[in-house]
Amino acid sequence: MNAKLDTTVTTRPVTRQTFDEVLVPTYAPAAMVPVRGSGLDLWDQNGKHYLDFTSGIAVASLGHCNPAVVEALTRQANTLWHLGNGYTNEPVLRLATALTEATFADRAFFCNSGAEANEAALKLARKYAHTKFGAHKSRIVSCYQSFHGRTLFTVSVGGQSKYTEGFEPLPPAIEHVTYNDIESARAAIGDDVCAVIVEPLQGEGGVVPGDKAFLQELRDLCTKTGALLIFDEVQSGMGRTGDLFHYMTYGITPDILTAAKALGNGYPIGAMLTTDELAKTLGVGTHGTTYGGNPLAATVALTVLDTINQPAFLARVKEASAKLRSTMEKLVADYSQVFTLVRGAGLLLGLVVTDAWKGRSKDIQRAAEANGLMVLIAGMDVVRLAPALIVTDAQIAEVDRILRLSLDGMIKAA
Ligand SMILES: *Cc1c(COP(=O)(O)O)cnc(C)c1O
Repeated sequence: MNAKLDTTVTTRPVTRQTFDEVLVPTYAPAAMVPVRGSGLDLWDQNGKHYLDFTSGIAVASLGHCNPAVVEALTRQANTLWHLGNGYTNEPVLRLATALTEATFADRAFFCNSGAEANEAALKLARKYAHTKFGAHKSRIVSCYQSFHGRTLFTVSVGGQSKYTEGFEPLPPAIEHVTYNDIESARAAIGDDVCAVIVEPLQGEGGVVPGDKAFLQELRDLCTKTGALLIFDEVQSGMGRTGDLFHYMTYGITPDILTAAKALGNGYPIGAMLTTDELAKTLGVGTHGTTYGGNPLAATVALTVLDTINQPAFLARVKEASAKLRSTMEKLVADYSQVFTLVRGAGLLLGLVVTDAWKGRSKDIQRAAEANGLMVLIAGMDVVRLAPALIVTDAQIAEVDRILRLSLDGMIKAA
């Protein structure tokens, strides 16, 4: 006999401990549980305040509970939620129009996450090569230390073996090259390659900017061999680096662009953008998803895009980026026993720890949290900052103050 649902479950107190009892333990979340947010401010269950320099891993780029986004979402929630792919909807038509007008692309496919956007991109590349050149042109090239999502295909394409161990057998015909190593790319990209996928700025892999010459070489090799160049801008896109997408900063245009994270400011949505010619590959029935581009997600993303893709907004992102960067460079210089350098682009910066502090990014993250500041890490040796794009100069000064306070405490305790 089934146990009766205890109706108090909706009001019963839950704590961080509950996570360990009822969630699949794929994550190790912080001890505090945030309950409320506004802009870059968060409050936990005890009412303690935090300055959020994570924006939920570069997602809530317009801040928590952004009024324009809340207004759009609630308006749409009272109008129409979902239809299914047998019908299109006005928000998705507007969103696709806006994204194609704002980028090199002519066509958009919507899904629910970054992994799914990359999955669609890789499937498109495989099918395009299969149809145009034959089954032999199937190899996919990506970079070590890259991150493209957690489906079995995208995690295999991603260049971090710690994420694929134990999940074998993995999809075949995937090869990895060294990021920013032109010779390594030249050696791997031959006529049997259907796609090269790369993050123009590696996020999870340690906040490593792509060299322009490397990305240009990938572009040239793809053009020469008939492979499709996929830029994974799931983390670097949507204004994060001061341009709408980071490919614009480089002036190097991919064949396929993927976006997610900040596209929905926290409402799940992913997008794959491509050209008319390539889009034809995915004809009726070849690919799909139940929720992709539903009215709620599309409405939110359209509002986000409309807010971010304004010259004044992006100019302020560039200004805030320069401010954060110079502030962090000063901090790194003052704490040279802890950090070696600042790298990244725009409002996605990594503070790289010294050999003496190797493996301690998580400790720094915890110390900052105790002092009311949330930061990210990118591996055990990089502290990653990804504040909402609406960050103020006062908040940049505050992150500096709390980081210094936290480092002083750690140094004293050592
Ligand atoms: C986060 C991320 C992904 C995966 O996105 P999900 O929404 O978690 O599936 C893919 N690529 C990059 C570059 C990312 O940063």
